[in-house]
Amino acid sequence: MAQAQDLRQAITSVAGRPGPVLTAYLSVNADIPENQGRTYLVRLRDAMNDEGVPEGLQQRVREYIEEETHPEARTLAIFADEDGLFEIYRLQVDVPESFRWGDPYVAPLTLVLDEYEPYGAVVLDAERFRYFVVSPLSSAHGEGEMKANGFREVDVHPSEPYPRGRTDFQPASRRTEAHIHSFYKELGELTRDVTFHEGVRRLILAGPRERTAEFRRTLPTELQELVVAEEHVDLGSPEGELLDRLEAVRERAEHEREKELLDEITESGVRGLDATVAALQEENRVYHLAALWELETEIRWCDNDQLAIREITSEECPFCGRKTRVRPLTDVLIDLATARGARLDFILGENENTDTLREEFGGIAGLTRF
Ligand SMILES: [Zn+2]
Repeated sequence: MAQAQDLRQAITSVAGRPGPVLTAYLSVNADIPENQGRTYLVRLRDAMNDEGVPEGLQQRVREYIEEETHPEARTLAIFADEDGLFEIYRLQVDVPESFRWGDPYVAPLTLVLDEYEPYGAVVLDAERFRYFVVSPLSSAHGEGEMKANGFREVDVHPSEPYPRGRTDFQPASRRTEAHIHSFYKELGELTRDVTFHEGVRRLILAGPRERTAEFRRTLPTELQELVVAEEHVDLGSPEGELLDRLEAVRERAEHEREKELLDEITESGVRGLDATVAALQEENRVYHLAALWELETEIRWCDNDQLAIREITSEECPFCGRKTRVRPLTDVLIDLATARGARLDFILGENENTDTLREEFGGIAGLTRF
């Protein structure tokens, strides 16, 4: 995972900047109604004004973001200062918006990098093969061309030439089928190498149904276990359409993963704000959190102890006696999850998962170790 290591290094170097640094997590996900008409540009401008970011720096950031008519991300993480720091990361996950002018705030980025798994998508038929990777996080520069929906194409070169001159509409001769079989076998091994190199943990196979089924059978066992979906697609369709289909499959697979998480929490987990924060912070037994994207709640926080204070009226910290402050619950969850090494999934939209989380779990729940 060379890419992830580079990113980790970049994040560490940002975190070490003395500040003041502008940190902005800006939601640019076009599927969120609040972002229609690129209203995030207005939110960014207002937030930078509120935070007191110097005008020259504001202008640089605004110009950059305004030029990005299609950010190809759900969230942009922006780090900039007056000494030349200007880093933009594209996140393929939704992270609650926040804006700061002061110490760099890298916790949400670290959380995304540590906890979300890249998807791989193999697209193939009898004579063509393409491999796409969508990572939760990528830097704006370097590492190959970014296509629609954050997909990046990885070069895979088999040693023997691709089978030629036939389509799936012609009856197959045994010789050609044998050729395709050995072609798939080699591609299966190349797929394994790329998959592990890219850190892919969930794999989508797409193409004519009988071909994806055959390819899946040919795959090394450890790879077969990573397959989360087989999708029937026509490789002749335009690339934009193909990538939209892959993104739809990925979203469906993510929705399923979230549903499984909620089912597991029902079996052995904690639910509700009070019990979940206690289990996470004091008992240190939560390893995976699920929280509603739209959590409007606030909670008290002690900066000295880096602890949430569950009694909302406690202006003084019960542990150290210093003054506490009120913070948005989502910010506190990100900080606590990062400190405790717990994975944190924000679940958004109007669907059965958000219904369960809202109605049965009180908006927040966690999977517990014991
Ligand atoms: Zn305290």
